[in-house]
Amino acid sequence: MSSIEENLVSIRARIREAAGRAGRDPDSVVLMAACKEVPPELVREVLAQGVKIVGENRVQEALQKYAVIGNEAEWHMIGHLQTNKVKKAFSIFSMIQSLDSLRLAEEISRQAEKLGREMDVLVEVNTSGEDTKYGLRPEEVVDFVQKVVRLDGIRVKGLFTIGIFSPRSEDSRPCFRALRELQDRLESLNLPRASLEYLSMGMTDDFEVAIEEGSNMVRIGRGVFGPRPGQQS
Ligand SMILES: *Cc1c(COP(=O)(O)O)cnc(C)c1O
Repeated sequence: MSSIEENLVSIRARIREAAGRAGRDPDSVVLMAACKEVPPELVREVLAQGVKIVGENRVQEALQKYAVIGNEAEWHMIGHLQTNKVKKAFSIFSMIQSLDSLRLAEEISRQAEKLGREMDVLVEVNTSGEDTKYGLRPEEVVDFVQKVVRLDGIRVKGLFTIGIFSPRSEDSRPCFRALRELQDRLESLNLPRASLEYLSMGMTDDFEVAIEEGSNMVRIGRGVFGPRPGQQS
């Protein structure tokens, strides 16, 4: 087995175990490969291993890989998206997981109407309160989602967060729990045109805790591909 194949076997086993601990169906948890700094050949390798969704942080980098791989993968944007890149984003991504401002939502809506398309989005929430992170503050989210669902061409599919920056995965648990509680609150409002299917949370260092707290989409980079160039671990 290649190392990517071995890594995937191990990550999938850990996903199953975490889902089991939480009394959840392991098949309800989607594994996304987070591919920043990963060359197209290696992205291809995970696709061959049955991974369907690829996450990218930068439009420019995604365009280069998309030129090679195209629609063999389903592409999701997981990094901060500038409004002037939205048009290009439409040519690659089927979901923007990192919706973090009303201005961006309005631009997505505008481009969607122009292109006669719709875009799925997740609302990014800054659950850790770290000012290095993008995303809405938790207390802003209900009001924000109520505004976004009024825009045409944009479909709110759930919420997205990044756990706190810490070597201990347990430290992210309150972040993940907060996102889950927000999702529950939004669901109870029965907003028209919002179908809150996805809780995108959990990365290499904290995906098991995220699954225990209700994540159904984990975004794994290093755990699949190994350390990124220039990284210690
Ligand atoms: C890089 C990245 C990931 C994957 O991180 P790993 O720690 O390598 O698993 C997940 N989500 C986002 C938003 C990222 O930028």
